[in-house]
Amino acid sequence: MSRGGERTVLAGAGLVGSLLALFLARRGRAVEVFERRPDLRREQISAGRSINLAISVRGLHALAQVGLEQDALAHAIPMPGRMIHARDGGLTFQTYGKDDSQCIHSISRGLLNRMLLDAAERTGRVRLSFRRRVLALDPERRELTVEVDGAHTERVEGAVVYGTDGAGSAVRRAVVEARGGVSHEALLAHGYKELTLPAPPEGGWRLERNALHIWPRGDFMLIALPNEDGSFTCTLFLAFEGSPSFATLEAPGAVRAFFREHFADVEPMLPDLEAQFAGNPTGSMVTVKCSAWHAGDTALLLGDAAHAIVPFFGQGMNCGFEDCVVLDGLEAEAAPRGEVFARFEALRKPNADAIADMAVENFVEMRASTADPRFLLEKAIEKRLLAELPGEFVSRYALVTFSRAPYRVAYDAGRIASGIVSELAEGVRSAAEVDLGRARALVAERLTPFLRERL
Ligand SMILES: Cc1cc2nc3c(=O)[nH]c(=O)nc-3n(C[C@H](O)[C@H](O)[C@H](O)COP(=O)(O)OP(=O)(O)OC[C@H]3O[C@@H](n4cnc5c(N)ncnc54)[C@H](O)[C@@H]3O)c2cc1C
Repeated sequence: MSRGGERTVLAGAGLVGSLLALFLARRGRAVEVFERRPDLRREQISAGRSINLAISVRGLHALAQVGLEQDALAHAIPMPGRMIHARDGGLTFQTYGKDDSQCIHSISRGLLNRMLLDAAERTGRVRLSFRRRVLALDPERRELTVEVDGAHTERVEGAVVYGTDGAGSAVRRAVVEARGGVSHEALLAHGYKELTLPAPPEGGWRLERNALHIWPRGDFMLIALPNEDGSFTCTLFLAFEGSPSFATLEAPGAVRAFFREHFADVEPMLPDLEAQFAGNPTGSMVTVKCSAWHAGDTALLLGDAAHAIVPFFGQGMNCGFEDCVVLDGLEAEAAPRGEVFARFEALRKPNADAIADMAVENFVEMRASTADPRFLLEKAIEKRLLAELPGEFVSRYALVTFSRAPYRVAYDAGRIASGIVSELAEGVRSAAEVDLGRARALVAERLTPFLRERL
């Protein structure tokens, strides 16, 4: 308890909730966390929305603030680029950054969540309560209703509530209602299905270990991220309806035939494809843009509860982790809490909206453009400019993934950068043909002043 019997309560102990609990505890707060699910450290349950995920600079920076970056990296697999699998089986590796030193990392969601929960508990200030589902919040009365073990409900009074309860947040409903705001929840017409590509019995890896694999097929795609044990987690992104779609794959034999036709190199590596396909859930993806992130000084939303985004920039968790860093910085200034919450919303919302839009745009890039020759030429030019004009040219991907520049700045700078690349790509057949003098002049004229003003 703190501030005259006030209780600090978190709804949701997923990735963002468990990290936030740690940050708050480090500021001396006693924190109570209510998590709907059982304790994933003690029971065999799925870790949640994806088996593994890509962590990059923003997420790693947040972990560094709480002393966990190296522990996490010890279990992560560096992915300096993406491996594109063409229909004919041809492979093309595209580096993400200027060279192999810039990479994203594949990490197990369950492992990271367990690590954060353990670290939060070790502070001695965090009490974790599982099978506790937050049903409702009355911000005015500071009263929370919690369902215990799916059986009875309890009232929690005098609570300051941090809503880290994910995309379907119950806290968001209360916050939006209290402020008379709106929450736009745009469901993607595509769903996703995860499949495990097992490690070979003799050890090693069936695909290149240090890469994010993509099979771009126009309206749908398969991706695969490596796991520590030699397996890969594949994710099929496909429309729910239409042809092909999850609906058309319900017929007997349809899944195997679909994989044979579109992902011929990986199909033989999935002997239990049908069983996995039938047994694993089909997930949906949503973009949440919500006009109110806090209710006075009583409740605040962070992570997916405030801004769920589609996963195609690999930034949902990274963005949620960055939320925790930003809030921690504001809390350090010891301003009244209502002011901290309002400043957090004002600072983060434009950036969350920007990464939400970039994530949707990146879906098209991943599933369709990565196989397009013009796109490949522009990527090659971008790579050359990154290497030859260091400190001058930056790309959107690099700003989002390898820097902590505000997402809004990354969005706008990315537009300028891709405009320059597109101009330079006119009339050339390869990146080597690009006139570097002209490139430097365009960057100096358009990109440098923009970035100088904002960073
Ligand atoms: C397929 C897929 C791939 C992804 N890949 C990446 C990636 O590569 N990189 C990346 O950065 N992000 C990725 N993301 C996004 C990332 O998963 C989310 O942004 C991240 O999980 C958000 O964390 P969170 O803690 O805010 O929400 P969640 O992870 O959803 O956690 C919310 C927690 O709250 C609990 N909860 C829910 N309701 C209640 C309630 N009423 N009461 C109490 N507890 C409740 C839930 O059980 C859960 O534990 C991916 C998402 C998907 C779907």
